[in-house]
Amino acid sequence: MSMIDEILQFNKGFVEREEYKSHKASKYPSKKLAILSCMDTRLTLLLPAALGLKNGDVKIIKNAGGVISHPFGSVMRSLMVCIYQLGIEEILVIGHYDCGMQNLRSDEITQKMLSAGIHTEVIDRVKAEIDYDKWLSGFECVEQSVSETVAQIKNHPFIPERIKIYGLIMDPDTGRLDRL
Ligand code: ZN
Repeated sequence: MSMIDEILQFNKGFVEREEYKSHKASKYPSKKLAILSCMDTRLTLLLPAALGLKNGDVKIIKNAGGVISHPFGSVMRSLMVCIYQLGIEEILVIGHYDCGMQNLRSDEITQKMLSAGIHTEVIDRVKAEIDYDKWLSGFECVEQSVSETVAQIKNHPFIPERIKIYGLIMDPDTGRLDRL
């Protein structure tokens, strides 16, 4: 059975068994908190569990590395919605040790693109339009990355002064948080 069929079959049972009842929540976060974190699979359930969060408590925005790659991109837009539409008062930027974005290199990804059949000319065309290497590169140090992201949010022209912003690093094995 393919993955999608397996998921749809499980989903049918989930709804029939009314298992959604224990997850009932409002779209307005009960804790007035937004979290920006990494998409790492180890954090999927560990992060909310280790912070004592349940469904409906917070807004969680995730991407590779938990970074903001553009001041007017989708992460900042999500934070705008969090603050101005959903009443968020605090933001946690949570990086983690052993992150896949640490030391990620754009030339490594480029090689894999070429092997997957993406043409050099296509890559060159994109390189002429954007800062390709910066876009596809990770960070060297997670503490530095989180600090920079916190500063990016703090210094953003649309973030009101009352919003509190904190940087934290999670141990992906134990869930321990180290505050920056
Ligand atoms: Zn990560």
